[in-house]
Amino acid sequence: MDRTHILVLGGTTEARALAGALHARGVRLTTSLAGRVAAPRLPEGEVRIGGFGGAEGLAAWLRGHRVDVLIDATHPFAGTISFNAARAAGLAHVPLLALRRPGWAPVEGDIWHSAGSLEEAARALPALGRRVFLTTGRMGLAAFADADDALWFLVRSVDPPEPPHPARMEVLLDRGPFTLDGERALLRGHRVDVLVTKDSGGAATVPKLTAAREAGVPVVIVRRPPVPDGVPVATTPEEALAWVDGLGPV
Ligand code: NAP
Repeated sequence: MDRTHILVLGGTTEARALAGALHARGVRLTTSLAGRVAAPRLPEGEVRIGGFGGAEGLAAWLRGHRVDVLIDATHPFAGTISFNAARAAGLAHVPLLALRRPGWAPVEGDIWHSAGSLEEAARALPALGRRVFLTTGRMGLAAFADADDALWFLVRSVDPPEPPHPARMEVLLDRGPFTLDGERALLRGHRVDVLVTKDSGGAATVPKLTAAREAGVPVVIVRRPPVPDGVPVATTPEEALAWVDGLGPV
């Protein structure tokens, strides 16, 4: 495995964990980040930042940097890069794995409303509440920009949002993991009566769902885009390592 070059498409906790594990094995590893976050948490190993220029650009990068294995460990909602990865892997004849943490499942007491998109989530809001805790990331705020005037938004994001965004909003700059006590206090303190989240999965942001359940606050949960057809999926970094081992010498 020592000469194998693995490209990890990153931007997630799982991608960093996988990079750490591969690095510890002495594998040649590059993590690619989109460059959306001003000061990203960097993984071990080599890092490159910025887009590739579509699927063809990514395929050219795979060939030019002699990549043997591609692992798409991007966020479950980063649908474009995942689609590009599937196409590029085919073009460059490189094995591809998607690393996707499992989505969340409702438990007793949850009041969940499923939405197929951010736009659908925005349309559902007026019937559910007035004071919205919006945790879908600053890139998707445009979907809520024309919201009903009666709605007020608490927007939590890592970096400050740019327009278009809702007119009536307060911004909370923070990044997880978040504590249950903190989420309880936040819902209470801002009198939140509806929460919007993507079905990101993972433990880091689950306390908001627990706090919402306890407070009887409904949650609009945006469904994930599908993993591209034919791409095998691992749900943990450990499963991804086992898949790499299963490839044998590449
Ligand atoms: P996206 O819509 O799927 O991708 C848009 C474009 O950004 C891609 O076509 C690609 O540009 C570039 N890109 C995305 N991820 C990249 C990567 N890891 N390395 C190099 N270029 C990348 O992605 P997104 O939803 O904007 O997310 C961007 C990044 O943020 C992802 O890496 C993802 O893991 C992370 N992230 C996303 C979310 C979310 O909710 N979407 C949440 C947390 C973290 P080119 O076509 O030029 O190659």
